[in-house]
Amino acid sequence: MERTDIRDNIISLRGEVCKAAEKAGRSPTGIKLVAVTKNVPAEVISMAMEEGINDLGENRVQELLAKDPHIDRGVNWHLIGHLQTNKVKTVVGKIKLIHSLDSWRLAVEINKRSGDLGIVSEVLVQVNISGEKSKYGLGPEEVQDFIKDASDLGGIAVRGLMTVAPMVDNPEEVRPVFRELRVLFEGIKRAFPGVSMEYLSMGMTDDYRVAVEEGSNILRVGTGIFGVRAVGKITR
Ligand SMILES: *Cc1c(COP(=O)(O)O)cnc(C)c1O
Repeated sequence: MERTDIRDNIISLRGEVCKAAEKAGRSPTGIKLVAVTKNVPAEVISMAMEEGINDLGENRVQELLAKDPHIDRGVNWHLIGHLQTNKVKTVVGKIKLIHSLDSWRLAVEINKRSGDLGIVSEVLVQVNISGEKSKYGLGPEEVQDFIKDASDLGGIAVRGLMTVAPMVDNPEEVRPVFRELRVLFEGIKRAFPGVSMEYLSMGMTDDYRVAVEEGSNILRVGTGIFGVRAVGKITR
């Protein structure tokens, strides 16, 4: 990928996000774009940052930690893949938002390690809406109780929900998945006014338009910025 390709991709992505937002009658201003940088080298990431990208997503801790020293200015790292409890101590304090809180055990560990550092880690609860066995995430029916319990942990702050939609040929097919996450999100906001539920992380290269129409405010896009070869296989 050349710098100009990346620039063109980002410009067209932003345009498409605006169009989708307009179609849904919402403002595009609150929609955050996280550039997913798995398999993308630091030099190429810098090209995206020159186009104003400031939020980077990785799904593997090791890859994130390896790249971080090579990225020159302060970025916001987003951890978007499954986090093993034994890796928590290596990343807590370095990540702006963990999108993949998917078990109570992990919540307890993030809480503990954050407490050790005297910080509060912001997290999203990952929900497996489609119920695919290959996917991480809580079942939709578990989310409310989970968040209620998590709100007692002083070292974590639940800020919203995340989901990874199934791979389909036509992005319209995943609309019900996004809609269900949105409904869950709104229900939790009503049930727990004290929990600051702000983020709905849904939508990737193939389905971000539908996700925007269904209320997403964090898009995680890799291929649509860096191209197919750079990103490679999707790990869920
Ligand atoms: C890889 C990945 C993405 C980005 O996928 P693209 O289709 O390349 O945009 C988003 N979210 C998660 C959890 C991923 O693993």
